[in-house]
Amino acid sequence: MKEEIFDRYMQAGAAAKKILTEGAQRIQADASLLEVADFVEGSILDEGFGIAFPVNISLNEAAAHDTPSPGDSRVFAEGDMVKLDIGVHLDGYIADTACTVDLGNQPLLCEASVAARDAAIEAVKPGVAIGALGGIVSHEIKSRGFLPVANLTGHGLDQYCLHKGPNVPNIPGPGGAILEEGMVVAIEPFATTGTGFVHDGSRVEIFSQLVKRPVRLPAARKILKEIDGHNGMPFARRHVYVKSADLALSRLVRDGIIRPYPVLSDVSGSYVSQAEHTMIITGDGCIVTTA
Ligand code: MN
Ligand code: MN
Repeated sequence: MKEEIFDRYMQAGAAAKKILTEGAQRIQADASLLEVADFVEGSILDEGFGIAFPVNISLNEAAAHDTPSPGDSRVFAEGDMVKLDIGVHLDGYIADTACTVDLGNQPLLCEASVAARDAAIEAVKPGVAIGALGGIVSHEIKSRGFLPVANLTGHGLDQYCLHKGPNVPNIPGPGGAILEEGMVVAIEPFATTGTGFVHDGSRVEIFSQLVKRPVRLPAARKILKEIDGHNGMPFARRHVYVKSADLALSRLVRDGIIRPYPVLSDVSGSYVSQAEHTMIITGDGCIVTTA
């Protein structure tokens, strides 16, 4: 990896670490989700970085892809298990990192995803098959009495590209892709008290552009203009300042120009924790950019 690219990954990682820590401190009972989102995204921009995806603030059985709606009135409550997942980029080189804030009393559930992530990171080096990482993640979570979420994975990263191969599984599996020096990957185990599978919910706040194509509807045209600078990276409904945005968004989804990311949840009443770091694979291991 070229030194200037490496440096950008490291700078984005350091900023992401700091902002994740400060954002997590603001997650307290009665604080509003919107305030935390504004703080995180405002900090990313204030420090001279780009927002790689809308801050994900997912509660309890929701594992990922929730973010405040425009004017969202929700506040955190005692007992909430809050996943804070942020994306910071510098010239498209992304740091993707997440933590869980427990407003209840489930320390072991939080520990499970952290231990799984850190054990997997210990094993990361060139030549390792990603299936082995899934085995490590699964073992750490199950040994604490929880289930890994089977249908969520870590992933490779590239410039302006949040998800590219290989996917890093959270369950054991045969072989799979082999890690190579210079790859950038995010490892993100999810531990759950539920079924170990998440499903698409009806709530959709996050979208990304799939293709560039002219559209007729004026509101849709305005949205595409507003999100042009995202280079295909996700945006939130909250970030779209256009009248009749909802109609335009659904039209853009229907026409295959943007895709929705529904909130992903395990069964109602369950709790999910998440821990995530981004790392660059080196000759003999990895450098975690977000640690
Ligand atoms: Mn993430
Ligand atoms: Mn990720």
